[in-house]
Amino acid sequence: MNASLHIKGGRIIDPANGIDRIGDLFVRDGIIVDSLPKNEKGERGAEVIDATGKVVSPGLIDIHVHFREPGQSHKETIATGARCAAAGGFTTVVCMPNTSPVADSPATIAWIQERAASTACVNVFCTGAITKGLAGEEMAPIGALAAAGVVALTDDGRCVQNHGVMRRAVEYARHYGLPVMDHCQETTLSADGVMNEGEWSTRLGLPGWPSLAEDLIVARNILLAEETGHPIHCQHISSARSVRLLREARQRGVPITAEACPHHIALTDGELKNFDTNFKMNPPLRTQADIDEIIAGISDGTITILASDHAPHATYEKEVEFDRAPFGILGLETELALFLEILLHQRKALTLPQILGMLTVNPAKFLRLDRGTLSTGAPADITILDPDHAWTVDKNESSSLSRNTPFHGHSLRGRALTTIVGGKVVWDLESGFRS
Ligand SMILES: [Zn+2]
Ligand SMILES: [Zn+2]
Repeated sequence: MNASLHIKGGRIIDPANGIDRIGDLFVRDGIIVDSLPKNEKGERGAEVIDATGKVVSPGLIDIHVHFREPGQSHKETIATGARCAAAGGFTTVVCMPNTSPVADSPATIAWIQERAASTACVNVFCTGAITKGLAGEEMAPIGALAAAGVVALTDDGRCVQNHGVMRRAVEYARHYGLPVMDHCQETTLSADGVMNEGEWSTRLGLPGWPSLAEDLIVARNILLAEETGHPIHCQHISSARSVRLLREARQRGVPITAEACPHHIALTDGELKNFDTNFKMNPPLRTQADIDEIIAGISDGTITILASDHAPHATYEKEVEFDRAPFGILGLETELALFLEILLHQRKALTLPQILGMLTVNPAKFLRLDRGTLSTGAPADITILDPDHAWTVDKNESSSLSRNTPFHGHSLRGRALTTIVGGKVVWDLESGFRS
């Protein structure tokens, strides 16, 4: 079997090392190397990939995905979710714990890890729950979860409402060196809200989920991170005031971070006018002013990580009255294109190396993953992409078991062309999956 790769003539962008140059990249036995031995060069040796005119990036990392195993494998399995990742250019993903059973015990973590090892074509890391059953009452066995290999703790999908429990959990997490991530939603304020509280919720007569409910928990997390000195990461930030709170806190040196998702900078709550449940997500789509502030926060370093919140749901579950439909949309296959289309092409908010940094080295550093770089000796996770490749999203071409995307039919620029995990090409745009 051919264990070596010679990626020729691409624009190598490695934000971890400040590299942006045209050149060749070599891979041997799953590791990035400086060069190949003479007998592995040429036709009989390494597989040669012509990357002329393309960008060669560290494999993209998404620290926020929902694969539905165990428990809801009709929506997505770890295998199909991983294929979505690969087709979107992602070589590493981090799974949220709101599975069934909830990932709040070493046994469930071990099950997910085993399933990922035997079925996934990309690297899959697990988070553990902060509280048992995501109920927000009793802490999960944080030490045992750490020993089982979770990379962070989160109750995503839910938010711990009891500040005493959250404080104790952050203190325990600090003891075990585990970052805490949080879905920021104060539930007495969001109540039964199904969309952004504002002009559109009034016009449509749907119960509103005000951005105040997010802002309040972001503020809580800033105070807890400051008090404990331990990092807290605010997931999928959707509101302008949250960004301003985070900016001020980070300027003071509080160890607080945040991520933004494509839909929160691509779409406003006005899209809900047709009651299409493919636009129903949590936190909800908000206003243009919120989008502008999130993009400002991405450009000035307030928000350092980009993620998808890939959340598959079966069609029959989404095809119900708006307020009864589940929250969430597919993300992995459109994520890179949406970020490039909006942040690079339309808004010119960031350079390509800056965007790739937020999808590689930044998430890797935050979760202390030995990835997200093209350094010699690093695992050979590599994404070859074309930031200008024009294409139209077709939900029927998705690798997911679900079809819930609001971007069907959208024309976007930017796409992954080849995804390499551990030195093996797992997917490329022309020929599809290799296994
Ligand atoms: Zn969430
Ligand atoms: Zn989520």
